[in-house]
Amino acid sequence: MAGGPAFDTVETPSRALIDACVHCGFCLPTCPTYLLWSEEMDSPRGRIYLMKAALEGRAALTPSFVRHFDTCLGCMACVTACPSGVQYGPLIERTRAQIERHHPRGLADRAFRAFLFALLPYPARLRFALAPLALAGWLLRAADHVGLLRLVPPRLRSLLTLAPPVSFRSLTARVAEETPAAGPARLHVGVLTGCVQRLAFSHVNQATINVLAAEGCRVSAPAAQGCCGALALHAGRIDQARALARDTIAVFERAGVDRVVVNAAGCGSCMKEYGDLFADDPAWTERARAFSARVRDVSEALVELGESRAPRHPIRARVVYHDACHLAHAQGVRAEPRALLAAIPGLDVVTPAESEICCGSAGIYNLVEPEAAADLGARKARHIAALQPDVVATANPGCLLQIAAAGRRLGFRWRIVHPIELVDRSIRGESTPNSQ
Ligand code: SF4
Ligand code: SF4
Repeated sequence: MAGGPAFDTVETPSRALIDACVHCGFCLPTCPTYLLWSEEMDSPRGRIYLMKAALEGRAALTPSFVRHFDTCLGCMACVTACPSGVQYGPLIERTRAQIERHHPRGLADRAFRAFLFALLPYPARLRFALAPLALAGWLLRAADHVGLLRLVPPRLRSLLTLAPPVSFRSLTARVAEETPAAGPARLHVGVLTGCVQRLAFSHVNQATINVLAAEGCRVSAPAAQGCCGALALHAGRIDQARALARDTIAVFERAGVDRVVVNAAGCGSCMKEYGDLFADDPAWTERARAFSARVRDVSEALVELGESRAPRHPIRARVVYHDACHLAHAQGVRAEPRALLAAIPGLDVVTPAESEICCGSAGIYNLVEPEAAADLGARKARHIAALQPDVVATANPGCLLQIAAAGRRLGFRWRIVHPIELVDRSIRGESTPNSQ
């Protein structure tokens, strides 16, 4: 098997973090890839062992070595499960950066990844690309109905079936740059509008702004903002992530906000890590730390505000709340979204079995590893279906798309919303979970 060099000396995975692993194996039952394949090297413990071997020059970056890291979802369930406090996040990010620098991928893989990273973090390009993608997605769903879907190669199939449900309206929708607080302002907040989020889920951004304003926040959503860099960071493209992060920090500094509010779990977890991302860059370290300290998931921001100002009206529905991994595991935010939903009269909020296991979305994972992602999606969809929900709520655009696609494959047509949409509808007195 062809080999490559082991890790170089630039930003290697931390020896101290690796040595914190005591090999107890408590993380194994919560690792999605270990659940799927029962392979030690596809578990957190096995992957940490491989990192250590590469760090010590005992393992080369062979295709099989790389495969064990490509299949990791970066879901951070292992971080929640680990009694020794192993910080797997920085370990996998730096390992992936080493792989990106040193592992020569095949032409098709390289081209597909280059295409994704030249497109997804750039809303202007994405806007042009999404219209035909949406049409292709519609055609593909039609092909699915007549049994032709299996003729399409798996990666292309995933790309098309997971294409966001965009319309001309959503592609051109804009939220206001400035929204005044209802009543005296309690806080000045900035809202990250995101890359995929602003084009496919602009209604979620609008709901976020509506609720924050109703609760007494002056809301700024600077039009100059771009992608936060989460997709690039989680895939080991650290230079691209840093460039996008610098722009994001600068935009919200100019806006002069007290908090930067995020409604996409993957983006929030990345922005809370900016301090670490620039730890070795003196020109940005302090700015990045100060920025990260102001970042809040929208549920955290609302709970922090304290007593609610806007009355909630009833919505009678059974809601399955799915914990997005980058909210629950990476940020430790579980109680706040549930508290927001529990404050809506009439909602019956339930949690599916195996709530700690990833749905298979995981950034670009369901695009580059479609088979494993589909298996995890089906597993998640079955657990959700067992609870017979009227609506599914989850706080990440990738999970929304993944669970919708997984449900469709099993014949379910759930209404899937961001929790903030339910809060918005409750405040506005809409008695149904969504308008579709
Ligand atoms: S991040 Fe998720 S998939 Fe990767 S090792 Fe940890 S639990 Fe397993
Ligand atoms: S639970 Fe933590 S210490 Fe135990 S094997 Fe997993 S990563 Fe290592």
